[in-house]
Amino acid sequence: MIAPLQDAPFATGLTPWTRTLPEHISPTAAKAYLSCSLMFYFERVVCLRKKTPVALHLGKAVHAALQAFHLARWRGGDDSPETIAAVFEQSFTDLERDEGPVNYKNDAKREKTRIDGLRVIAAYLDSPEAMKEKPRAVEVMLTESIPGLSVPLTGAMDLVEGNYTPVDFKSASSKPDRSHAVFDHEIQLVSYQLLLETVGENPPSLDLVFLVKTKKPQTIRVRSKPADRHRKLRVIALLDTAVEGIASNRFHPQPGMHCSWCQFRNECMAWLPEAYQERRAA
Ligand code: SF4
Repeated sequence: MIAPLQDAPFATGLTPWTRTLPEHISPTAAKAYLSCSLMFYFERVVCLRKKTPVALHLGKAVHAALQAFHLARWRGGDDSPETIAAVFEQSFTDLERDEGPVNYKNDAKREKTRIDGLRVIAAYLDSPEAMKEKPRAVEVMLTESIPGLSVPLTGAMDLVEGNYTPVDFKSASSKPDRSHAVFDHEIQLVSYQLLLETVGENPPSLDLVFLVKTKKPQTIRVRSKPADRHRKLRVIALLDTAVEGIASNRFHPQPGMHCSWCQFRNECMAWLPEAYQERRAA
């Protein structure tokens, strides 16, 4: 448990989310918790405000544009490249206003980020991966009880194709390694399968579509087989590990590669469990 530290920014503000079972768990929250529980605490429990990372800002604006495209395909609306680019532009500035400031180094970086977004969206719309038919669902949010999981599972799927394949879109700066991508996103992909199965559908594939902002932008689909019983149980166990950790107020540093983009390095350095504070004071 994190003990109160007088000058630490995380000493106050514990929300009801801690010390009780969360109302539900999402694959995104579980993955964040399992990657570094202390970063999760700063971001999602005490909600420390920091400048938005550029990659996150770009990803959200690209996501808004793709959502507009898929909704237009679904409803038979305007899905022209010009309209979708305009949605991106609007979202890019709205997010800066509503969730900013964004951690740009300078104006040139902002402009490059904006152009990168327009380029990856144009590449997607021009690629064979761009949805040609009417999707089954867009931005579908499901919350369902899963046997073996102590709280309901919730997940928002970017797109569900006509044959019930869930598709999640990722913005990336380099080409993904296919097997690593599936392994890295296992909790999310299998969670979508569990949710779809709960409502009576069996997805034939669990897919990721990467929008890669290389010099020549690329759109790369990574397909993966539906999970067997072992994989499903493994993911349920991972989700429950996160639930149990959050409910037990267990947040501690987990140093790794993710520290290089963590915005809470100073707060992390102030972390010390209660028992060790007493030793420090002795
Ligand atoms: S610096 Fe590393 S260990 Fe510390 S909170 Fe951030 S990600 Fe976790």
